[in-house]
Amino acid sequence: MLEKLFEIISPDTCVVCKNEGKCLCDSCRPNTLIYKKPGCVFCNEVNDSGKTCLRCYKKHPIRIAKISFRYENTVKELIWAMKYENKRSYARYFSGLLMPMPGVVCFVPSEGASRRKRGYDQAEVLAKNYAKLNNLEFKKVLIRQAHSRQVGKSRTERLKNTKGNFVVAQNVKGLDLLLIDDVITTGATISECASVLKEAGAKSVTALAIAKA
Ligand SMILES: [Zn+2]
Ligand SMILES: [Zn+2]
Repeated sequence: MLEKLFEIISPDTCVVCKNEGKCLCDSCRPNTLIYKKPGCVFCNEVNDSGKTCLRCYKKHPIRIAKISFRYENTVKELIWAMKYENKRSYARYFSGLLMPMPGVVCFVPSEGASRRKRGYDQAEVLAKNYAKLNNLEFKKVLIRQAHSRQVGKSRTERLKNTKGNFVVAQNVKGLDLLLIDDVITTGATISECASVLKEAGAKSVTALAIAKA
């Protein structure tokens, strides 16, 4: 509510031409954001669908990864502001630029999201808005384990706790999941998430992200 009010008082301005409205206006966008060629997200082998190649799929059970843009210049700048300058509206902006796909929407919980000043999770905002825009079900499926709260635990408990970064908090049996993250770097995180989701019974995991570094 307060945030909405703030946006009316101080709307976003285009980072390129400084016009009021969106963080990147419709006329500047085509010249600014560069679409990423589809391919296997893990080894970068190019293909038309963004399917994970057979070799990589054995280790990383992500069926398809749809990455919208190349991670450079303006995209980098906007994502940084979305994460560290409380630009929640930027997350809403990018949720409209993720590829529409069928499935149940979930997200990769960001590291340290709750510890940040006015803490929110940009991946959660992205996912919730994406679900709303595409009329899909949203589920908070994954929880990131807090490894810092280890004090006072036994050694075995500590080991158990450090084994994985994510736990599955909801029933995902038989679901085709859309796993949303803001930026994919090596792919290790989405791979880990997909593995725990598949172990918990998910039928398939498709990854969606704004950009890949
Ligand atoms: Zn502009
Ligand atoms: Zn591959």
